[in-house]
Amino acid sequence: MTPPKPDLDMDLLIIGAGPAGLTAALYGARAGLTVYVFERGEIGGQVAMTDYVENYPGFPEPIEGPELMERMKEQATRFGAQIVYDEIERLERDEAHYIWAYGTDGTYRAKAVIIAVGSDPRKLGVPGEEEFTGRGVSYCAVCDGHFFKDQVVAVVGGGDSAKTEALYLTNLASKVYLIHRRDRFRGEKILEDRVRQNPKIELVLNTVVEEILGDQQVRALRVRNVQTQEVSEIPVSGVFIYIGHIPNTGFLKGFVELDETGHIPTDSNMQTSVPGVFAAGDVRSGSLRQITTSVGDAAIAATRAGEYIEKIFGS
Ligand code: NAP
Repeated sequence: MTPPKPDLDMDLLIIGAGPAGLTAALYGARAGLTVYVFERGEIGGQVAMTDYVENYPGFPEPIEGPELMERMKEQATRFGAQIVYDEIERLERDEAHYIWAYGTDGTYRAKAVIIAVGSDPRKLGVPGEEEFTGRGVSYCAVCDGHFFKDQVVAVVGGGDSAKTEALYLTNLASKVYLIHRRDRFRGEKILEDRVRQNPKIELVLNTVVEEILGDQQVRALRVRNVQTQEVSEIPVSGVFIYIGHIPNTGFLKGFVELDETGHIPTDSNMQTSVPGVFAAGDVRSGSLRQITTSVGDAAIAATRAGEYIEKIFGS
C-alpha cells in the first residue's frame, strides 16, 4: 500500500548521478520538468574514478574524469535539477500511474522515472580477494594507485578498463603486470598498442589468478597458466581488478523486466517493461558502455519521459 503523502513530489525522478543520470537531468530540467537525481554514493559514477577521458568529443586534450563529471553536474543543476543523496531500495507503480520510490531516508513520488544506476566492479572470487580489499586489492587505480608509488603491482583483465588503468599505474608504480586469461584483448586497438609498447608493463597472458597471498598486505599472486597448467607466484604489493561490471539492478527484481545478466531491456525510446519507467547508460541491455552512448541514451530517455508525462498526466 502506498503512503498518503510522499516526502518529495516531482515530475521526473532519476536514479544514479553518472553521465546518463546527469544528462537525463539536464534534458529533463531544460524541458521544464521538476527533476530530482538520487545518488547513493559519489557523483559521477565510474567516470569519476577514471583518471583521463580521451574519447569524449569536444575535448581534444584528455579531460580528467572527475572534472568532466563535475561539469556535467554543474550543467544539470544550473537548469534546476536537484541532487538528493539517498539510496532507492524499491519502486512501485500505483493505479493513478505515479511511480513511488522508497529510499533509505524518504519516500518519493514521480510521474516518470529514469534508471541510470550503472554497475559495480565484478569480483574475481578467489581466496584472499575479500580479505585484502583495501590492503592491496583495489578496484580503482585512480583512488588507490598513489599507495603503490615505486612498487610492483598487477592489473587483472583484458578489456579497455584494464588497459587504461595499467597505463595509468605506470606513472606511479615501478612495474605493472597485466594478467589476462586469454592472449587476445577486448576493446580499443590504440590502447592495446600503448600497453604493448610501454616498457613498464609486462604482459602475463593465458593466465588466471588463483589466490591473492599476503600477511598484513598483499605480497604475491598465485597464478596458473591455462595452457601449460603451470602454477607460479608473482610478487606484487597491489592488485587492481578490472574484469568487467555487474549492473546494480538487484533492487528492481520483480518490478521491471531484467535480462539474464541483470541488465534492463528497453525499446528505442529507452522505455522499459513498466510504463513511465525508462533506463539509460550501462544498465541497459546491449549498451556499448561508453560515456557517449550513455549521454545519448539519457537524452532520448528524458525527452520521451517528458512526452509520456504530457500524454498521461497532461502536464
Ligand atoms: P569488459 O570489456 O567486459 O572486459 C572485461 C575483461 O575482464 C575481459 O577481458 C574478460 O576476459 C576479463 N574477465 C571477465 N571475467 C573474468 C574473470 N572471472 N577472470 C579473469 N578475467 C575476467 O569490461 P571493461 O574493461 O570494464 O570495459 C567495459 C566497457 O567500458 C567496455 O565497453 C569498454 O570499451 C568501456 N571502456 C572504455 C574505455 C576507453 O577509454 N575507451 C575505458 C574503460 C572502459 P575475456 O576477454 O576473456 O572475456
